[in-house]
Amino acid sequence: MSSNVNISDFIENTEVTWNDMCYSDTAAKNCIVNTPKDDKILVEIKKTAQLIIQPCIEKFGSIYISSGYRGAELNAAVGGAGQSQHSTGQAADFWITGKKNMFGLYKYIYENLNFDKLIVEKPPSGWCHCSQGGGRKMLMVFDPALGIRYQQKTLSWVQKQYYS
Ligand SMILES: [Zn+2]
Repeated sequence: MSSNVNISDFIENTEVTWNDMCYSDTAAKNCIVNTPKDDKILVEIKKTAQLIIQPCIEKFGSIYISSGYRGAELNAAVGGAGQSQHSTGQAADFWITGKKNMFGLYKYIYENLNFDKLIVEKPPSGWCHCSQGGGRKMLMVFDPALGIRYQQKTLSWVQKQYYS
């Protein structure tokens, strides 16, 4: 499968293309080729699209993915964490198109999907980071304005703090 992936093809059983999962403004600007070759990574990208993104599309209509897979070169360019699940194809950053209903998105994922880490990034608008693969179901918050750097929180704390 590896060398035969066509970036504009849809990932099977999803409305997500490989390009949606691999495209990056930063990569384009810096002429970084961000197409995975490793079979293991391709399998994980596919699972992220099938287990996380597609159910959100079915629930909310349209999802915008700002960052999915990040190869080593791109991850360095965006200053991403060395052990980022973006590098293994297991994570994506996204929101409902138009950034409507951020809390609804978090709540839906938290209560319905088999995710690993769900991060409320720079709320109340910001973006949703979600990964699959470990099944830890960890909900975390990254809010530099409040000095919160990846602390574990409950869904009701998030709602009370930012969305009520
Ligand atoms: Zn992320």
